[in-house]
Amino acid sequence: MFDPFTGAVLDGAEPVRPRAAHLGLEPPRFCAQCGRRMIVQIAPDGWWARCSRHGTIDSAQDEQR
Ligand SMILES: [Zn+2]
Repeated sequence: MFDPFTGAVLDGAEPVRPRAAHLGLEPPRFCAQCGRRMIVQIAPDGWWARCSRHGTIDSAQDEQR
C-alpha cells in the first residue's frame, strides 16, 4: 500500500499528511494500490482522481454516500 497523499510506501508507521487531507478537503494524488501519480481534477462540489490502472475515485465515494 502507498500513502495516497505523499506516494510514500506505508510500512505501518503513521503517515504524515497535510491537515487538509485529514479534513477530506485535499484529494489524494497517488494511487493507494500502486503508488502511481494520479490525474486529479478539482470540481466545485468535490474532486476526482484517476489512476491509469485502477480507475477513478471521487470525493462522494470517499464519503461513503
Ligand atoms: Zn493504481
